[in-house]
Amino acid sequence: MRFAVNEYEELRQDVIRTCLEMNAIGLNQGTAGNVSVRNSDGFLITASGVRYDDMSPEHVVQMDLEGGYLGPVLPSSEWRMHMDIYRSRPEAEAILHVHSPHATALSCLRQDIPAFHYMIGVTGGDTLRCADYASFGTEELSTAMLRAMEGRNATLLANHGMICFASSLRSVLALGVEIEMLCQQFILARQSGTPVILDRDEMADILRRFGSYGKQPEDLGDGEELAFAPPIRRDG
Ligand code: 13P
Ligand code: ZN
Repeated sequence: MRFAVNEYEELRQDVIRTCLEMNAIGLNQGTAGNVSVRNSDGFLITASGVRYDDMSPEHVVQMDLEGGYLGPVLPSSEWRMHMDIYRSRPEAEAILHVHSPHATALSCLRQDIPAFHYMIGVTGGDTLRCADYASFGTEELSTAMLRAMEGRNATLLANHGMICFASSLRSVLALGVEIEMLCQQFILARQSGTPVILDRDEMADILRRFGSYGKQPEDLGDGEELAFAPPIRRDG
């Protein structure tokens, strides 16, 4: 394979735009964090230690799913976490890892975040787990992350931050914002008292309803119901 920076030009720009946005909205700062997107050769991932303001397409590195990379620039030190998610989760199309303030603060407690709010269901389950601690950029961290990610699409990384995946760069940024918001809300709730945790049955129902949330009646699959009881349509 040869290195060609003009390949996937548009996708490389999308990765850079996502990074600039994650820093602009306060989800991350400095050179912390990393972003990747799947493509037909494996995935494109941000370079290690490059300020996002200074990032150009050659700082978005092509990797394959066997641990190889192309070009003169080293990929993110967390390449293995990204590769392991793409390898084990076929539904993952884009990955975001950030040191956002509230998620990172909670990650230092090394505790799973329970279903204090129904939106915890955006993780794909009824908790936001916290992976066991391992040093940044190590295989151990990726192994701990994968374990915490079972049945989930987001996890805290102990004393470090969070990582999540979704079906596109746009969706993964939105998921990152949601996780950070949940962490902020959990901190506020805990500062105000003892949050009441939603039970398993309620969360199972929420997760089922999440499946059709945002769909119009004509988009529903066989046996699928609307996420809520709709009002009466008057025009036909
Ligand atoms: P990179 O600059 O190597 O992507 O590292 C940032 C980071 O967040 C490591 O966990
Ligand atoms: Zn990190």
